[in-house]
Amino acid sequence: MPLVKAKKHLGQHFINNDQLAKDITELLSFNKDFQILEIGPGMGVLTKFLMNVNINFKVIEIDKESITYLKNKYPDFKENIIEGDFLKFDLKKNFKSNISIIGNFPYYISSQILFRVWDHNEKIQELVGMFQKEVADRIIALKGRERGILSVLIQVFYNVENCIDVSPENFTPPPKIQSSVIKLNRNNRKELECSKKLFKQVVKTAFNQRRKTLRNALKTYNIKKDSKVESLLSLRAEQLNVEDFIKITKHVEAIL
Ligand code: SAH
Repeated sequence: MPLVKAKKHLGQHFINNDQLAKDITELLSFNKDFQILEIGPGMGVLTKFLMNVNINFKVIEIDKESITYLKNKYPDFKENIIEGDFLKFDLKKNFKSNISIIGNFPYYISSQILFRVWDHNEKIQELVGMFQKEVADRIIALKGRERGILSVLIQVFYNVENCIDVSPENFTPPPKIQSSVIKLNRNNRKELECSKKLFKQVVKTAFNQRRKTLRNALKTYNIKKDSKVESLLSLRAEQLNVEDFIKITKHVEAIL
């Protein structure tokens, strides 16, 4: 069977190391209550190890050539292949139960995938994914310069863990960057104690002017002097943890 020709615009860097692929899949909990969804199976290097555990899971792939390859190679698996774009895929409608997501994600949509995880946190219980190392470092950063909007949004609902650092020669073609596999595990927070929409907006606003103190960065919210959150306002966004952002959002919500 001819191999799939790697397409740059789809972020295709195929894992060429079976042991690595196996190690990645073994990071999943295989909890029977969670249905597994693999994003971007390509030629199925992760998929085949998942099949060894259980054939009842779904994959979503945008590339027609990869889909044809998978259908020919794994005819019994045909029904489990969803043809389409993960970013447009309706998770709520298509999955009744909770899900675990896994993938060697195409780098060009890695942030969008993470924003979808934020949107669907009540459904997505676990995620094991390959990211550009820089993005992975942001997600797991608990404080400091690497922190960004996605660090905060993901850490609201997930415990984060760096699992495997991966160098370029493990992919065909090799990317120009280092990669890391990280794992997200849904924490115990049921929902936010403040508006989710406003929380995201406050975090974004704070990080959009990350060099400024929050007093300046969050000017548009007109937080009064000597308010309850005064002590936080002299800090910069990267110095705040999730709870601090919740406090500020609750305060802003009350004065809106
Ligand atoms: N899992 C394979 C392929 C990884 S490359 C391996 O590790 O070797 C990334 C894969 O994501 C490619 O197969 C690419 O076609 C697919 N992909 C890219 N954009 C996508 C999207 N929006 N939705 C679903 N799959 C996508």
